[in-house]
Amino acid sequence: MAIQRTFSIIKPDATARNLTGAINKVIEEAGLRIVAQRRILMTEGQAKRFYEVHAERPFYGELVEFMTSGPVVVQVLEGEDAVAKYREVMGATNPEEAADGTIRKLYANSIGENSVHGSDSPENAEMEIRQFFSQADIIG
Ligand code: GDP
Repeated sequence: MAIQRTFSIIKPDATARNLTGAINKVIEEAGLRIVAQRRILMTEGQAKRFYEVHAERPFYGELVEFMTSGPVVVQVLEGEDAVAKYREVMGATNPEEAADGTIRKLYANSIGENSVHGSDSPENAEMEIRQFFSQADIIG
């Protein structure tokens, strides 16, 4: 497997509890390198676009409201098989189903407020990175 990049968000429930450093520690200890990182307040437009695939789901409004409720940290992670590896490190969407030692098992509040996002495919990773970073922001 080649070196890959994935897109990560540390969500508002985690930044509110000062968990950015703790989550970054789990990421780095898993062998993923944080090659770009920025703390932002997502606009409603950015959140709606980012989660457009979920527009028809009943939780879409709640999700957009949550993602704009406080600061998030957007990141680019790099490493061997980074997309799949980060999904593993994050754990299942619902923290009750997440494996021990995963970020969501350790820190998530609920299925909605679940502390982190990670791309689900290399194609989506590329699109998501492009929504928030320019090539010059990414120092590998
Ligand atoms: P992920 O890839 O593991 O983040 O999960 P999904 O792509 O299925 O869902 C995207 C995000 O929507 C999740 O990370 C949650 O923040 C949120 N979400 C998913 N399912 C639910 C739900 O049943 N209720 C609420 N409130 N939010 C949800």
